[in-house]
Amino acid sequence: MMLKHYPWHQQQWENILSAIYNNKLAHALLLKGESGLGKLEFAKALAQKLLCQQNLEQACHQCPACHWFAQETHPDYYSILEYKAAIKVDEIRSLLPFLQQKSHCSTGKKVIIIALAEYMNQAAANALLKVLEEPTDNTYFILITENSSQLKPTIKSRCQFINFPTCHDESILTWFMQQGYDKQTAKEALWFMDGRPLEAIKLIEGDLQLKSYQLLAHELQSMFQQSQYPEVIIRRWETLEPINLIKQLQHLIALVLMYKNGTIICAENQLSSAIMKISGDIPHLHKIYDVLLNMHQLLITGYTLNKLLMIDSLIQVIIEIDGEDDE
Ligand SMILES: [Zn+2]
Repeated sequence: MMLKHYPWHQQQWENILSAIYNNKLAHALLLKGESGLGKLEFAKALAQKLLCQQNLEQACHQCPACHWFAQETHPDYYSILEYKAAIKVDEIRSLLPFLQQKSHCSTGKKVIIIALAEYMNQAAANALLKVLEEPTDNTYFILITENSSQLKPTIKSRCQFINFPTCHDESILTWFMQQGYDKQTAKEALWFMDGRPLEAIKLIEGDLQLKSYQLLAHELQSMFQQSQYPEVIIRRWETLEPINLIKQLQHLIALVLMYKNGTIICAENQLSSAIMKISGDIPHLHKIYDVLLNMHQLLITGYTLNKLLMIDSLIQVIIEIDGEDDE
């Protein structure tokens, strides 16, 4: 696949190019932004451009370095991309021999990508900090994060930030149409995914996911309406992957809150009409959101939650607190 940054990254790309031409590119970059914006693709396109033997605005895709990169065999490129649980100290330590070896190419450059850097545990973050504190010429770290508040401030202070905001500009719909998507469908999906194009594509392609959001929205509403114990819903939730359930609920509640605060206007589709019907009051929705956020953080830091207990305490918050508020 030809790596290229997406059209909505043009500004970030130009900023990087100007930093390169002015010899001001930092040794550590932090790509910040929500999921579904293509930060990893940007990081890879940048890594390839840095390692490319031609000095062009993008990687040439023709030189030996570009071929190695495309085949994922470039000896001066190192990446930690796979998210399993947490990034452990051994993974950072295994970088050290790579850092010590000389570059194999005339450019003299080496590039390291660490995706989802916020998943580094304490020891891993400390080990990385040590490396960043002693920058080596021509060695570039590209860190990526969806949640920079979870990254150590000392690491952030070593990095030049590149922000990836969500895309709400209508011009992006042209890109969707070039990829063969229907304009109206793309518009709705982009609205629902809050301006994150790659998530919007996942939503369009995976019809199931859209349906599962609709179902969750109906379930939430039915729990808000009746305070009896929702056994059918619990049984269904037990069949879901906990992290997906939590993420989807977070997403829904966030949209409901934005809708109630007037920050977003609902588009005309089945999903947004399901969202508009959700009736919880704002403080209650915030409480639920906080519980979800807490569970989400526990799950991504590798903490093992008992699924049944997790669902049970979630349901308690959804139905009981509402009941208390009514009294
Ligand atoms: Zn090249």
